[in-house]
Amino acid sequence: MTAGVRAAPETSSDCSRCFGLCCVALPFARSADFPVDKPAGMPCGHLGGSSGKHEGGDHSCGIHASLLAEGYRGCTVFECFGAGQQVSQVTFRGRSWRAAPDTAAAMFAVFPVMHAVHEMLRHVEEALGWDLPAPLRTSAVAVRDELVGHTGSGPDLLMALEVGELRSRVGAVLGTASELVRAAADRPARPDRRLRRSADLVGADLRDIDARGADLRGALLIAADLRGADMRQADLLGADLRDVDVRGADLTTALYLTQPQVNAARGDASSGIPASLVRPQSWGERRSR
Ligand code: SF4
Repeated sequence: MTAGVRAAPETSSDCSRCFGLCCVALPFARSADFPVDKPAGMPCGHLGGSSGKHEGGDHSCGIHASLLAEGYRGCTVFECFGAGQQVSQVTFRGRSWRAAPDTAAAMFAVFPVMHAVHEMLRHVEEALGWDLPAPLRTSAVAVRDELVGHTGSGPDLLMALEVGELRSRVGAVLGTASELVRAAADRPARPDRRLRRSADLVGADLRDIDARGADLRGALLIAADLRGADMRQADLLGADLRDVDVRGADLTTALYLTQPQVNAARGDASSGIPASLVRPQSWGERRSR
């Protein structure tokens, strides 16, 4: 590590060191993902120590083992990328919103900002694992160091952070890295023209499609049928994979694929995902293809 550069924080969640921030700071709306409405800043009734059914006094979920059965699918999909423990233990130095209620509003405002920063950091760290030319690597290291710096900022600086502007600059670096990796990948001779950035592919039949090296950034793939698809080196940054059927699909080297995207998809033992991600329990153990 270069002198003066802060160590990068973890980019996966550790709920044991978090004050249940996703269960308080974020709003949710009655839908297929949640059975009730909850405004931002209000503790979910199932959070330990809340006024609801679970009076545990801690920050664990009282229905963790039955979230799906209780209609809280959204909770099974969410991943904070380590923002929860960072805000709890670093930004607010281990004092919870219960112990210091005067800090609660700031803590809840900072959490979504930290979440965005940690997600970007995760993507940049992925890109830094690729074989990048020196100038691009220098740019990627610079944005990585900038993001790491933000993770150590105080509440006021974090709340003032222009997340959209930051996301745009980081996205440009991620996009250039993706282009280089995809250009060097094995790709189909005649790529399917439906596979493009921000494409509306809701419910599309994409069974067995050869999507190697495709740019599917921001694509809407909700409930699409990707059974047997070859998604190696496909850029899935920000793609909506809710209810996508990825049984038999190969996503082992898909670019910028995240845990919440995987959690939201429907796979099984024949689905391949990157080694850095956790296979959803409902998918079963991986079978070799
Ligand atoms: S149901 Fe459990 S995991 Fe979901 S918001 Fe409530 S306490 Fe958190």
